[in-house]
Amino acid sequence: MRKWNGWVDEGRHPTLPPAALRLIEAELGPGRPTPDATLADVIAATPASRLKPSPLISLDPEDRIRHATGQSLPDWIALRSGRLPSIPDGVARPTTNDDVRELLAFASATGVHVVPYGGGTSVVGGIGGKQTSRQPVLMVALERLAGLTELDERSGLATFGAGTTGPDLEAALSPNGLTLGHFPQSFERSTIGGWVVTRSAGQQSLGFGRIEALFAGGRVEAPGGTLELPPHPASAAGPDLRQLVLGSEGRLGVLTEATVRVVARPKHEAFPAWFLPDWAHAMVAARAIGQAGLPLSMIRAMTPLETASVLALAGESRSMRLLKGYLGLRKVGPAPSLLLVGASGTERVVEAAIREVGPLVRREGGIAVGGSIGRRWIANRFRAADLRDALWDAGYAIDTLETGVDWTRLPDLATAVEDALRHGLDELGERVLAFSHLSHVYPSGSSLYVTYMFRPADPDETLDRWRRLKAAASRVIVEHGGTISHQHGVGRDHAPYLAAEKGELGMAVLADIARRVDPGGIMNPGVLLGDEP
Ligand SMILES: Cc1cc2nc3c(=O)[nH]c(=O)nc-3n(C[C@H](O)[C@H](O)[C@H](O)COP(=O)(O)OP(=O)(O)OC[C@H]3O[C@@H](n4cnc5c(N)ncnc54)[C@H](O)[C@@H]3O)c2cc1C
Repeated sequence: MRKWNGWVDEGRHPTLPPAALRLIEAELGPGRPTPDATLADVIAATPASRLKPSPLISLDPEDRIRHATGQSLPDWIALRSGRLPSIPDGVARPTTNDDVRELLAFASATGVHVVPYGGGTSVVGGIGGKQTSRQPVLMVALERLAGLTELDERSGLATFGAGTTGPDLEAALSPNGLTLGHFPQSFERSTIGGWVVTRSAGQQSLGFGRIEALFAGGRVEAPGGTLELPPHPASAAGPDLRQLVLGSEGRLGVLTEATVRVVARPKHEAFPAWFLPDWAHAMVAARAIGQAGLPLSMIRAMTPLETASVLALAGESRSMRLLKGYLGLRKVGPAPSLLLVGASGTERVVEAAIREVGPLVRREGGIAVGGSIGRRWIANRFRAADLRDALWDAGYAIDTLETGVDWTRLPDLATAVEDALRHGLDELGERVLAFSHLSHVYPSGSSLYVTYMFRPADPDETLDRWRRLKAAASRVIVEHGGTISHQHGVGRDHAPYLAAEKGELGMAVLADIARRVDPGGIMNPGVLLGDEP
């Protein structure tokens, strides 16, 4: 079971490799571990539920605490300090669509606010309110509306309960030799319903498609009725209502089931790596590969600081030292950028695709370093998230943010976001470590994924530091024409910046649609539209 106040399972205590700790200490100064509240303390301080006992709803304080937040940095600060801004009044675990309708009817009649809960991995404030809501809050946890309910192998369509987690979904497809190929870093804990309503991107979405390409149809239970989305292969029958559900973040109802497009599990995969002389050459190489129309599943290019940090965090500092010597001999420069490419399919397709990449990278001064870095990266790709626990325990706060922008604006945006973060706490005399990578590359542009770390203080001060950094970075993203989110969604944290890209009329249209399906405004208020009551 996941720790009530962290990412890893109870009883696990991941630690930082010594080289990574040295690198972070050199950048930020010694860590400042902060005291953790105990679960018993938080249970003791939990206010009584405002809901009446019912067979469908658990009022148990621990249950309510475990569903009170997602996984954003403000959530972590709240959980570790035990100062939760709000604790829901109850947790329902429906097992059928009828249960969901019954819960929505009850909530509509009583004005109770409803928050769908998938895996609780939102990093943008999609779960958990800013302050105690005046209305009781009911979490609708989807863990029992889970599993494969229908498989049409001939059409490559699989229907799952919305609460199915990544591993369960892939395990259900595996006996038939199928895969969805959707691997967000949160894969082990997030759910198919969460992926759809947050427009999630997986690490190999270049090949398998983002969730909006994989989501063929489904069913949404809303206070105003039921929305059925048939899984047509394609349709010219007016606007596509699936696109409304994708990114709806619980505002349009509860997605109870999702039909997705599945494919044969690839027989062969390869993740070769190259070192580029610097970040500028790495970006040009990534663009050239992204525009070459090759059947690749992944293109990732890291800044030199991310390259060094990722290798140190993965305990690869010895490989890094050896590599630096080798790269020096090959005149690649003192601060190389790592480029990882993935290809999936038959052996011939994979080999041919990788062969085409070689000249594009060499043109930018890239040197191939074989498959071992890529193989280790793929083997540990979900473990990197565990380092959040290790870093916090060592006295460092870590957060990530991301955007997507066209190639023309990308270099300036990348520099400006990192600068805004690095200098965001200057007036407090605190340093910030920030580094980036291109995680998803498209012909017209790329996502930019930024990791930043700083030292925490007391909970209010830590939250204030995060607010300064998040606001500075978000302003830069918007000013440079980037989207406020390429993959994490909007939640509460990005809601103030949404109008900058949707416009006044666009925001009004979204609010009108939410009002039509949810006349009482009970579904996830505050999320996406920034309309916290
Ligand atoms: C360590 C880590 C790594 C991550 N890596 C990635 C990544 O690689 N790519 C990526 O895209 N994201 C990533 N995320 C973000 C997050 O995992 C995604 O946004 C994910 O899609 C959320 O799924 P979930 O099931 O956990 O949803 P939750 O966090 O439970 O919910 C997210 C939002 O959707 C609503 N919701 C959830 N389920 C439903 C439903 N069935 N019907 C209606 N509304 C619903 C909730 O109310 C909430 O507002 C990462 C997060 C963490 C903590």
